[in-house]
Amino acid sequence: MVKTSVIGFPRIGEFRELKFATEAFFRGDIQKKDLLEKGKELRKKHWQLLKDEGIDEIPSNDFSFYDTTLDTACLLNVVPAKIRSLQLEPLEEYFALARGYQGEKGDVKAWPMKKWFNTNYHYLVPKIEANTKIQVVGTKIFDEFTEAKVLGIDTRPVILGPFTFLQLAEIEEGIDQEKLISQLIAAYQEILSRLADLGAKIIQLDEPGLVMDLSAKQVQVFEKIYQHLLAKRPLKVLVQTYFGDVRDAYQTLIHLPFDAIGLDFVEGKETRRLIADGFPTDKVLYAGVVNGKNIWRNHFQQTLALLEDVKNQAFVLSTSCSLLHVPYTTANENFPNEIVTHFAFAKEKLTELTALAELVAHKSMHLLQENTELFSQKRFEENELVKEKLQQLTPDDFERVPNFDERRPIQKTVFHLPELPTTTIGSFPQTKEVKQNRLKWKKGEIDQEQYEQFIEEKISEWLIWQESIGLDVLVHGEFERNDMVEYFGQQLEGYLFSKNGWVQSYGTRGVKPPIIWGDIARKAPMTVKWSVFAQNQTQKVVKGMLTGPVTILNWSFPREDVSTKESTLQLALAIQEEVLDLEKNGIRMIQIDEAALREKLPLRRSDWYSEYLDWAIPAFRLVHSKVKPETQIHTHMCYSEFTDIIAAIDQMDADVISFEASRSNLAILDELVRRKFKTAVGPGVYDIHSPRIPSVAELTATIEAILAKVPREKVWINPDCGLKTRGIEETKASLANMTRAVKGIRKK
Ligand code: GLN
Ligand code: ZN
Repeated sequence: MVKTSVIGFPRIGEFRELKFATEAFFRGDIQKKDLLEKGKELRKKHWQLLKDEGIDEIPSNDFSFYDTTLDTACLLNVVPAKIRSLQLEPLEEYFALARGYQGEKGDVKAWPMKKWFNTNYHYLVPKIEANTKIQVVGTKIFDEFTEAKVLGIDTRPVILGPFTFLQLAEIEEGIDQEKLISQLIAAYQEILSRLADLGAKIIQLDEPGLVMDLSAKQVQVFEKIYQHLLAKRPLKVLVQTYFGDVRDAYQTLIHLPFDAIGLDFVEGKETRRLIADGFPTDKVLYAGVVNGKNIWRNHFQQTLALLEDVKNQAFVLSTSCSLLHVPYTTANENFPNEIVTHFAFAKEKLTELTALAELVAHKSMHLLQENTELFSQKRFEENELVKEKLQQLTPDDFERVPNFDERRPIQKTVFHLPELPTTTIGSFPQTKEVKQNRLKWKKGEIDQEQYEQFIEEKISEWLIWQESIGLDVLVHGEFERNDMVEYFGQQLEGYLFSKNGWVQSYGTRGVKPPIIWGDIARKAPMTVKWSVFAQNQTQKVVKGMLTGPVTILNWSFPREDVSTKESTLQLALAIQEEVLDLEKNGIRMIQIDEAALREKLPLRRSDWYSEYLDWAIPAFRLVHSKVKPETQIHTHMCYSEFTDIIAAIDQMDADVISFEASRSNLAILDELVRRKFKTAVGPGVYDIHSPRIPSVAELTATIEAILAKVPREKVWINPDCGLKTRGIEETKASLANMTRAVKGIRKK
């Protein structure tokens, strides 16, 4: 029978055990050995689960305490000299790269984080310095293989491949590429042979970098690396791709002596066409047919039709990408049966793989029948009114008047802000207390009034504090929100929520994406009450705080029966209503976060506009097109990697945009100036993803570096994202330093 496999499995645990253990370790509540033990326990549980579910080929080393790209860097001795010189012990050094280190041994920043291709997962960007010597120094991949073997489970070790590793790494200028490549080849050769010695039969080298637009030169680099690496391979090599098709490298890929090639049939638009042109008979095709990113059941009939294409060759049924991007199981949810039967989380996808294997062998045909029936049912809730509204939209609905240049002076007069206005991105620490308040209310332990009173107290407290340090534009702090998407989803028609559907976002951080189940509509105002309460407490301006339609969509599990464009426009209409209500109630600045706008930018340039920006940018414009000229619209994007789409960002027509920039050394600023970016900008002056507190001197230097590039009257000063994940002390210390730095600069 055809075999089954997965590219990777969620590692945070069924109940996020890994998160809780790691955070306890960070706080010093548990010892290192306890953390290591927890990791071991989880790996065992996951391998056993895959085995029990009947998965034939089980990966190992897909586990990670923080991030697998970071694991690969540590394995390969890619650790900057500055961090090495602190002489931390390995696990401490590992976490220092991930989160920065501030302690008795020194003070270093964390590596920058970037979004992992087109997902909401973040990887750490390895930094290769001139004196980095790539060689195998880590043991994790070997240890975990052996660990599974001892348990009687034969696994396929997984590691990020050398080509993608190089592509993702930041390489110091002037480094000899040839030398780097030969060191990498030697290191991977060693990994292969050591695994073979331990008894591994096959290794999975992940090369998602192959689904990007590749130049002929890049393909040559890929070819060169693998020609060497595969020449005398001591075990089989599976090269695994995902998140798209490999059109630029396909011919090279099939001519190299790989034993197996993994292709994505879900997101890979051209995968079928590529294999129709020929796939080598001496290689095994790992067919990624079960969607690793969405939570809907697999449509067996369609999948089987697709598999007809490959029936004449050896193939293994697999997932389209690692299951890291979906929650663990639907078993801990309490959706009604008629709903949950449409879902497949990671564990349920394993069942789908084995069912598909049966069906390919013409066995258990009732499974096909059941599945076909499921898909024939009407599943989604429709809303005729929303559909009608969408149809009636005209180009004017997407155009804010007057234009940017005309509203700028108007806003200048009404707001009277000092030079370099200071603000924050929205949230303040979601402390235990804040979370408990919400939990108690949900459980009915406190009533609505007590719940709201607590939030009001928090808002007042933080408003007073913000005033005390001299911030210019205040925020209410988002204490009523669990999450910037779920909070809105919960109040909109058309959404469903899981209880335990967590997906890793970075390190110990998870998100629980809501599920779009029908047409979306706003039922009632969602944020007006809190914004108005906050504004009434202070003379200073308090920003209204909303999440934009593109981000809400991108951080939800979308429907598959209508286009993402349509769902996004439905969301845009709902948020537009909220914007207008805020304005009507005296809120004069409104921030509409599009944190995730960049994330879903198609990986291939040719798709950027036609498949995404052409509707995503208008969706944002629709949200704010009807506000008065004196209402100032802010937006925020977490991720400065938008150098290539600067024009599109400007087209969002916001008045001010804040974005992450501190970990990436403000590289984007030159581009903003060069492209005559019109929107005012707040490049994040410090990194909130790390507990480290920036000093006044450091912040002054950062701000001066910004001012050296961007005209002063365009600049806002703010941290690089919301502060909800941070502790109170570090938040206050950092922000106080920030306002001090600004005051110092203003004086100068
Ligand atoms: N306003 C949100 C906050 O401050 C923005 C978060 C984000 O960009 N991820 O939490
Ligand atoms: Zn952000």
